[in-house]
Amino acid sequence: MQRRTLLTSLASGFTALTLASNARSAAPFPLKKTATEWKALVSPAAYGVLFDHGTERAGSSPLNAEKRAGSFVCAACFLPLFDAAQKYESGTGWPSFWQPLPGALGTSTDYKALYPRTEYHCSRCGGHQGHVFDDGPRPTGKRYCNNGVALAFVPQGQPLPALRT
Ligand SMILES: [Zn+2]
Repeated sequence: MQRRTLLTSLASGFTALTLASNARSAAPFPLKKTATEWKALVSPAAYGVLFDHGTERAGSSPLNAEKRAGSFVCAACFLPLFDAAQKYESGTGWPSFWQPLPGALGTSTDYKALYPRTEYHCSRCGGHQGHVFDDGPRPTGKRYCNNGVALAFVPQGQPLPALRT
């Protein structure tokens, strides 16, 4: 936690030194929509995270406290990304998972902070979800630090929404 806080303040204090905004390539995703189309489908806050590389304020997502069984799907295209059994309380103020569903995510390196971080996104629509770190719990040791606004929760027993096309 302390290291993370230090790095965060370093990063915010030296944004002028940021080398590159994002290294994500223009990889083709199965679902492609224009900015205008996405803006009509998702909230402004969700758009800012998903398609403008934003980060929600820590502690702001109601999904932090979500402890029911179920699925977390991409807020843009509804692809299931995490199972609730893979969620844990990281204490960071962002919904955190130790493993995604198979094939759900793609990754890239971003240099928005002073140090390179591994950004991850929905493999179907390319919507940015969060960053993955190596300080997670067993068995993977990974911490998928997710923006809650980029997810939607579907409790177990309720049907998953049809994938957006
Ligand atoms: Zn998606």
